[in-house]
Amino acid sequence: MVLPKSVRQDGHYAGRLLSISSVEDIPEEWRETPIEALIRSENFGEPIQERSGKPQLLIATCVEFRYALPIPRMYAYVIRRASGRLIGSEFSIAYILSQGVRHLALIGHNDCGMTKVDGKLPDMIDALVEQGWNRDRAEDYIYAQAARHKMADELDGLRREYVRLKRVFKKLIIAPMFVDLADTRLFIPTWYAGIDPRELDSPDLPDHVSDIDLITSVSN
Ligand SMILES: [Zn+2]
Repeated sequence: MVLPKSVRQDGHYAGRLLSISSVEDIPEEWRETPIEALIRSENFGEPIQERSGKPQLLIATCVEFRYALPIPRMYAYVIRRASGRLIGSEFSIAYILSQGVRHLALIGHNDCGMTKVDGKLPDMIDALVEQGWNRDRAEDYIYAQAARHKMADELDGLRREYVRLKRVFKKLIIAPMFVDLADTRLFIPTWYAGIDPRELDSPDLPDHVSDIDLITSVSN
């Protein structure tokens, strides 16, 4: 699979991303945090030097194989899931919070397979059947999960997940960013500066705290 064209040349993203070319472009609330270190590594060519031996950051991004994270050992927890959505990972996040992490880099990317996953669902069902799943259960599982992971648009999907996570983890500092698969530079979605804090204040319980019900129904 070839790399997609840069978001700078793709009209789909025109006017929707802010570049980060200097420290001044980094939002104040991310400065001098582990988020700034990640940005400096990707955009300024300053590799992360981890000396504390303590986890600094949670990075959540897509399973995408064309993106490799620029991090050393002993620096960050990483959750990679299709689309980068963290629904169903609340247990993992609770553990990571308990280890002292207070910052989350939530990274979307261009050309995400989850924007076109509908056409892949039959193959995914076949893949589970080949692994021994009953076909009816495989179909139920894949269609239920597809509704939670697919996106019509990567930047809108990132916004939706940012708002959801801010409602569920109110004190976590979350940096929504977008990586250009063409050269792995990080951008900030223009919507970030326009978020109304009242939108984040809305009470919201996790809509799917766990996958236990699905796992149970599959294994029965
Ligand atoms: Zn993706």
